[in-house]
Order: sequence, then C-alpha cells, then structure tokens
Amino acid sequence: MDLSIGENIDKIRKTIVKNSSVPVGTVPIYEAAQTAEKRRGSIDKIKLDDILDTIKEQAIDGVDFFTIHAGILKNTIDILNENKRVGGIVSRGGAIIARWMYVNRKENPLYEHFDDILDIAKKYRITISLGDALRPGAIADSTDRLQLSELFVLSTLIKKCQARGVQVMVEGPGHIRLDEIAMNVILQKKMCSKAPFYILGPLPTDIASGYDHITSAIGGAIAAMQGADFLCVVTPAEHLRHPSAEDIKEGIIASRIAAHSVDLLRFKDEREKDNTLSYYRAHRKWENIFKLTIDKEKAKRYRKSAKVTSEDVCTMCGQFCSLKIIDKCHLLK
Ligand code: SF4
Repeated sequence: MDLSIGENIDKIRKTIVKNSSVPVGTVPIYEAAQTAEKRRGSIDKIKLDDILDTIKEQAIDGVDFFTIHAGILKNTIDILNENKRVGGIVSRGGAIIARWMYVNRKENPLYEHFDDILDIAKKYRITISLGDALRPGAIADSTDRLQLSELFVLSTLIKKCQARGVQVMVEGPGHIRLDEIAMNVILQKKMCSKAPFYILGPLPTDIASGYDHITSAIGGAIAAMQGADFLCVVTPAEHLRHPSAEDIKEGIIASRIAAHSVDLLRFKDEREKDNTLSYYRAHRKWENIFKLTIDKEKAKRYRKSAKVTSEDVCTMCGQFCSLKIIDKCHLLK
C-alpha cells in the first residue's frame, strides 16, 4: 500500500503503480486531507469534491484497491464520549474523519456518498477495502462497543458493494486479546457475508515495542487459522518511528512465517518445503537449507559467522552435535 501523507503524494503514487508487480492500494482520504490543508489551510475543511476527485484521479492512475473509512459515523463521537477508550482512535484515516465530523457536526461523507464511490470503483474495477477506523489501539479496548458498532455498519456496506458487483474486503481488527482473536474472525466472517478479512495485526500485547512484527505474527497466525485471508505487515518500528527498508523486510518475513505456518497445514506443496528442509537440516546440508529458508541472506550470514571446527556441525553443540552422534545409527530417513 502507498500510505504516503507528505509532499508529492501524486508523483509517489504514480511511480509505485508504474513499478509494482503486485496490486497497489491507497487511502484516498490522506491525499484529500492534504489537498484541503494546502488549499484551505486545514484538514477540517475537506470538501466532498476533494474526496471524489482524489478517488477518481487515483483510479485513473491504476490503483487496485482503496481503503475507505465509511464505517465510522457521527454518533461514534457520542459512543466514544460515553465509553472512553485507553487507545482512542489510532487509524489515521479514522482520526481525520472523526475530527472532521466533530468540527463540522456533519455525517461521514464517505458513508453518505458511498454510492458515488462505488460508481468510480465499478467503472475502474477497483476493489474496496472497508477501513477499520475504530480498530482498538490498545488491549484494554479489545472488541469494545466502538469496534463492534463499526463492524455492524461495514456489514451493511458489504451488501451494497456485492449488489453493485464491486469486489470488497474488510480491514481489522487491531490490538486484540489473544483469547478474542478467533472470535473476531468468526464474527467478521458471519456479519460480513464471508467477505475476505484483511488483518491488521492483531497485536495480542501492547508491551513489545521494537518487536511488534513478532507480536503481529503471533496474532496473524491465530487469525489465519480461523480463516483470515490477508495479513498486513507490521514492522519492528510500529508505534516508534517511520520504518526503514530493513524494518519492512523484517516485518514481511515475520508475516510470511505466520502465513506459511498456517499454509503448511492446508497445502501439500507448502508442507513439502518443511519436510525437505528438515531432511537437509538433519544431514547438515547447509546450501540446500539456505535455498528453502525464508530469509536466505540472514541464514547464510549466521552460518558464515560461526567458527566451526567441522563442516558437518554448527557451533551450538560443536563436537557433541546430536545429529552427527547418531549419524551411523541409521535412525534417519
Ligand atoms: S551442532 Fe547441534 S544445533 Fe548444530 S546442527 Fe548439530 S545438533 Fe543441530
């Protein structure tokens, strides 16, 4: 996804779309907010035309899917006032819309003009990704009234998309307690006519700053086991800073590990990768191991840094390498 919010959004998007070999998604409200700030000095002054013009322009550029935060409604502010949250609203698009509704005392334009957005999506064959503006941003807010109120609205918008023949998926669910992840996926699938679930996290703990790619992989694997369809990468920089290229690589690898852990239960080809690597590992065939490893470069670097006494052991057990000890006992396949 192109989540740019700074200068030259337009140029960045066009470059990404031109060079990407995979589908590209955007959050059009970011560009609409920037347009309003430039033209009128404030994101509070976003106009409907800013939104629809941005969506149309991005569609013409060849964007494949749009995140649209149409499930957060004006009455959300009242619910939030009654049921204060620890984590507030952590979705950037959600916060922009919530503030706009609060300041202007008007309904969410993405909700009110959803049919106009569908017209563009239909014409340019864009998939709608229904954004979870109210995903919990703290374990204390996991599966709260706000989150569920938005899911209910999204379930009605899904039907509109499906009736118009516009492909749709649903984003969610954010910071979720470990024992509520499965229930969240089941609930989403039931309420949203089995529309694909695009998983953000879920993060089952808040105290792993610097390691949230691991937190997310734990939650993502559990969600995938229940039928989640699409894992969003969370990087180690989450909650701390803009990620570096290395952070993104680590996040992608963590997500791939989570996805593969579930895929190997479902697909023979994926399981075969594990079986083959296990064979080579038992026989200490390092080059073959590297070929099948998700992060080949790191595996090679670690092996190279080990001061081994013999090629067929590593420095973990050295001469007491258990695999080498049983080599001659003919116990391996
Ligand atoms: S030394 Fe220990 S960790 Fe290394 S390959 Fe042998 S058994 Fe495995």
